[in-house]
Amino acid sequence: MTDNKNFDIFDRQHLWHPYTSTIDPLPTYKVDSAEGCMIRLADGTELIDGMSSWWCAIHGYNHPALNKAATDQLAKMSHVMFGGLTHEPAIELGKLLLEMAPPSMNNIFYADSGSVAVEVALKMAVQASVSRSGSHKKTNFITIRRGYHGDTWNAMSVCDPVTGMHTAFGSALPVRHFVASPSCRFGAEWDPACFEEMEREMRAHADELAGVIVEPIVQGAGGMWFYHPQYLRELRRLCSELGIYLIFDEIATGFWRTGRCFAWEHAGAEPDIMCIGKGLTGGYLTMSAVLTTAAVARTISEGEAGVMMHGPTFMANPLACAIACESLRLLQGRDMSARVAHIERIIREELAPAAAFDSVADVRVLGTIGVVETKEPVDVGEFQKECVRRGVWIRPFGRNVYIMPPYVIDDDSLRYLCRQLVEMVKEY
Ligand code: PMP
Repeated sequence: MTDNKNFDIFDRQHLWHPYTSTIDPLPTYKVDSAEGCMIRLADGTELIDGMSSWWCAIHGYNHPALNKAATDQLAKMSHVMFGGLTHEPAIELGKLLLEMAPPSMNNIFYADSGSVAVEVALKMAVQASVSRSGSHKKTNFITIRRGYHGDTWNAMSVCDPVTGMHTAFGSALPVRHFVASPSCRFGAEWDPACFEEMEREMRAHADELAGVIVEPIVQGAGGMWFYHPQYLRELRRLCSELGIYLIFDEIATGFWRTGRCFAWEHAGAEPDIMCIGKGLTGGYLTMSAVLTTAAVARTISEGEAGVMMHGPTFMANPLACAIACESLRLLQGRDMSARVAHIERIIREELAPAAAFDSVADVRVLGTIGVVETKEPVDVGEFQKECVRRGVWIRPFGRNVYIMPPYVIDDDSLRYLCRQLVEMVKEY
């Protein structure tokens, strides 16, 4: 790491970074500031951001309207407890969310992060299922392989059992049911065979299943795979028939990332419970929400406990809510469908040449997500060193080199970002 002028000894010796060894940590680059789609390092190097800080910074960094929403709210109160108190930012955010959410959503639970939202969603399904069936038998979950739902205990348990953390935690994790990831890709002709295993397993275990959880359309951190919308319609049909709650984890896909406001819209199949996070506050603060139907909310309240059994300290944090309101207003104030289609067109055009490389297995683009799947795993440390040298910020994992830039990115920056990616994967 001698060639990284942004290297910080304290950071290396004392601070854990995501999925990083303390003995031999991956390189880190010290950021001084960020603006629009540009990340500025401590040594003055400027990087075009291809990651939106892991799907979050949808409006770019240091956005004047989001900054103003934050400072206006700070002048009033940064936080008050949500137990027994309420406030305008939470109410306003709820109204905005219900305008954008699937029509059947009615009740909102504000949580702290994506993983916590998944915990809450699973708990909702269990509480509603126990209340509805009058038995504690229907409390397990089924999901698809290659999924990712977060790093907390139950979220981990429904992540892909191979690429997720099942090996490390073994029998400490609850045992879930897994079926193959939908093989039928987005845009291809529907192949009913791709739902057969799920149908068989759901029928076989219906009496022990509280819910199904999936990332709709885009499986993100588990493999960046885009699958056929019909799969979600089949899930909806079967969940309704078997009395199993359908949970959509829209934490990564939400807020226009896939070309629609939420990914369920590609299928027109509504979930019973839906998790959102990441882009909710435009990448300013950690916050998530779990939305559900009036029926689920009522069933939980009619159950043994009589209440939803969760209540985090920072629930509905006013500062986060105020920024989220502004972020949603920014989305509502512009033709996002056209904006995302424009970005998609450029990414598609620029990444296309990579499909011909010997080193590349697949190129796929959906909405503002562009993925180049390589044949061999990418060395993240080396790749990022080259990214910084070329003035772009991309963080690959496994065999996936992907971008999902902030929606404010200008055409020239976007084309430059894509071209650097293409040139770099050519070398693998
Ligand atoms: N679900 C999905 C689909 C995600 O992509 C993520 C984060 N990558 C999470 C849940 C967990 O969110 P968080 O990191 O905010 O806990």
